[in-house]
Amino acid sequence: MPDYLDTKIEFLKGVGPQKASLLNTEFNIFTYRDLLNYFPFRYEDRTKFHSIAQVHEDMPFIQLRGYIKNMTLVGKEGSKRLVAEFHDATGCIELVWFRGLQWVTKSVKTNIEYILFGKPSLFGSKLNIAHPELEIPSESALKRAILPVYHTTEKAKKKNLDSKSISKLIRTLLDVAGKTIDETLPEDLRKKLGMLPLREAYEHIHFPSDFDMLNRARYRLKFDELFFIQLKLLQLKNQRKTEQEGFVFKKIPTLNEFYKHHLPFELTNAQKRVIREIYDDMCSGKQMNRLLQGDVGSGKTMVAFFTMLMAVDNDTQACLMAPTEILAEQHYRTLKEYAEKIHLPISILTGSTKKSERNILLEQLKNGEMKMIVGTHALIEDDVQFKKLGVTVIDEQHRFGVAQRAKLWQKNHDIPPHVLVMTATPIPRTLAMTLYGDLDVSVIDELPKGRKPVKTVHRYDSSRLNVFAFLRKQIEEGRQIYVVYPLVEESEKTDLKHVMDGYESMCRAFGEGVVSIMYGKMTPEAKEFEMQRFLRNETKIMVATTVIEVGVNVPNATVMVIENAERFGLSQLHQLRGRVGRGAEQSYCILMTGYKLTKEARIRIDTMVRTNNGFEIADVDLKLRGPGDLTGTQQSGIVNLRIADLAQDAELLKRARNEAMAILQNDPELQTIQNLPIRTELNKMKTNRINWSKIS
Ligand code: ADP
Ligand code: MG
Repeated sequence: MPDYLDTKIEFLKGVGPQKASLLNTEFNIFTYRDLLNYFPFRYEDRTKFHSIAQVHEDMPFIQLRGYIKNMTLVGKEGSKRLVAEFHDATGCIELVWFRGLQWVTKSVKTNIEYILFGKPSLFGSKLNIAHPELEIPSESALKRAILPVYHTTEKAKKKNLDSKSISKLIRTLLDVAGKTIDETLPEDLRKKLGMLPLREAYEHIHFPSDFDMLNRARYRLKFDELFFIQLKLLQLKNQRKTEQEGFVFKKIPTLNEFYKHHLPFELTNAQKRVIREIYDDMCSGKQMNRLLQGDVGSGKTMVAFFTMLMAVDNDTQACLMAPTEILAEQHYRTLKEYAEKIHLPISILTGSTKKSERNILLEQLKNGEMKMIVGTHALIEDDVQFKKLGVTVIDEQHRFGVAQRAKLWQKNHDIPPHVLVMTATPIPRTLAMTLYGDLDVSVIDELPKGRKPVKTVHRYDSSRLNVFAFLRKQIEEGRQIYVVYPLVEESEKTDLKHVMDGYESMCRAFGEGVVSIMYGKMTPEAKEFEMQRFLRNETKIMVATTVIEVGVNVPNATVMVIENAERFGLSQLHQLRGRVGRGAEQSYCILMTGYKLTKEARIRIDTMVRTNNGFEIADVDLKLRGPGDLTGTQQSGIVNLRIADLAQDAELLKRARNEAMAILQNDPELQTIQNLPIRTELNKMKTNRINWSKIS
């Protein structure tokens, strides 16, 4: 039976075809349910009046009661404004209008009592309220409660669909359809969590009777949102574990040989543990879908190599996909060194692989001669065919889209390869739980022995000479240095000029022969040439843009200078810092900025100076930027939540996940009568907009 809430919005009283089409195009509202879930983005507190003496700039919209005095027109022709004083018994605040001056002059009266509603802000050193709402006190105005405010658009407003009329429509909707909102949680669970019934929650999110009820409504709706996403993710994970057949890789002769005779260093305990977890997956008969989290420099590459060996040891092939050519090259160099020790053929495929080489390589992959391959997106192309792909490792996963990952997965027709997703950007746990809630997670939480944490300092441009002196000393001690400049598309020309200027000033200070340069637009050959010179310690300084952000590994480099550090995001800064501190020597990260910094930039810089902990940094990042930005648009479908906020609702998310786990543990198929409401709701979700089928 179709749900009443799925009724098309044009059938709601007061809507009609024209408004319906506006609701469709401007708000993505197509059904009663969509409108019901169109939540206010803020509320106006009309329950209380403030006194002017208490008003300060950080207050939201507030209500005052008083009199207007001394209305005057000021400013030059073309930039005239109207100012007035608003008085109550405790003081006076300035009002100002920039538009509609004539109308305001005519209609606003001095010396009669008004109820004023507006947002105080600081203008220079003086508080004022711009374009206040004014009305004469009446019984209804004084009785008002908490008013919801809905986002609307200019176009909608022109057609009379402003916040107030949206609110009216929702009132109508709740009156006709409120009773058909089904409870989604079992009674026991709802009571245990002390939550409002869903119907009441919807009523109070749109029309709160007081702030306490508003909070309870929010709590309930946020919980529902998080709970059902988690439930779905956990179900997917369970399904995959019970249904998705995977290769069984038990033999490990070459792996053992490498481990016993050719290991270049002793593995950390964390590396050993993770390799063990992966091996267990390979023996389980089910497809592995594992996320490997490890801070920069924690040694994920070696884990990747062991994982790939498991495939090769069992007569299948392995591939590793990286997001950039530089990174692919880097991985290739490292893995080749390892692979050669045990006589395994390995190759690389990128966009700049020559056609003739590519053809040979494709043949070798198809007939199974080539056992291991490293590459970029080029690996996904349709003509890249494997004889039998056993393991896919994806590095720096956040740069790949969902669809791309799915493509790699489909390279085999019968049994899908095991998938190991590696990410160096520590994702806040809340976000990981949502983005990768259906993956198993391994964490390398230990750095190789002997690593000294990178020392990070903040220096102003004015102390550049001191910085140079420090660099000179490091070079004399045999160390190498990165100097990184921001480069963004919008200001590419000037940015590139800064890189060039920086390069030249380094050449002047340290000698042309010892400085390398690298930026995105260089040809792959030129990049590789410069990278090699730096790797061989022929050049001492690498001036670069963020092309070196991820993965580059030159253990002898001990100083990372970041120019215009205020222009980088936190995760970028952390990635860049991760390029040093890879050897036994003490390493340094120097963040250069001018004196003028925004509040946010200062938080970022201070965070970097304070901590080396990637998770802590990721949490600050999430709070500053919000989840959508953090993950890029590709995965935003799942993190663009309606009401919950991953940065703020971490606790609630954990609770939702735990409750979901407990329920599935007792009743995996949700067959019991208590869980019927849950099952019904999940079925409804199948038709919603999130594509659940291939999250990983
Ligand atoms: P990431 O996790 O950032 O990808 P890498 O795999 O690039 O880190 O490793 C960083 C550096 O640490 C490399 O130079 C690597 O050879 C080295 N390394 C990795 N594991 C160990 C270990 N167990 N002991 C010593 N050095 C290690
Ligand atoms: Mg790496």
